[in-house]
Amino acid sequence: MSSDIKNFGFPRWGSYGRDKETEAVRMCDYTGCSERGDHPAPKSPGSSERWHFCRPHAAEYNQNWNFFEGMSAEETKQHMNDTSESSGAFAGARTFEWGGAMDSDGNSSAELAAYDVLEVDADSSPDLIKKQYRKLAKIYHPDANSGDPAAATRFHEVQTAYDILRKKHNF
Ligand SMILES: [Zn+2]
Repeated sequence: MSSDIKNFGFPRWGSYGRDKETEAVRMCDYTGCSERGDHPAPKSPGSSERWHFCRPHAAEYNQNWNFFEGMSAEETKQHMNDTSESSGAFAGARTFEWGGAMDSDGNSSAELAAYDVLEVDADSSPDLIKKQYRKLAKIYHPDANSGDPAAATRFHEVQTAYDILRKKHNF
């Protein structure tokens, strides 16, 4: 692993393979995100190395793919460092600020992914979003799934998605 990659703006990266060799759960590589990184994405066009993001961050990264295309690894690193430094502590807010890409209705790709996770339309009311969150949180709650890792992953995705939409809609 080169020092470039180790210092790519993802502090957790440096600990992989060192003091976390027995850690089975891979965390999202996005700075400040504490979700599981179950969604691999190439680090640069043509690269065989992968980031591992949570679902909203993978969607965000993929959405920005065209933006990064043509940049050198150094330029990409610079950009991601800059944007992560200018954002707040809340992972959902970071996602929002990082995402320059908006659809025609002003939704960032992370927000669109969040609607997708909660299985609601992008024009859903806050009441419906809350209702759907409670329903899915109940279905995937660890207590209801005997510690099933897939359910736990889904539960965290649902929580992350709800946080993103709660920020967006201010409820
Ligand atoms: Zn993430």
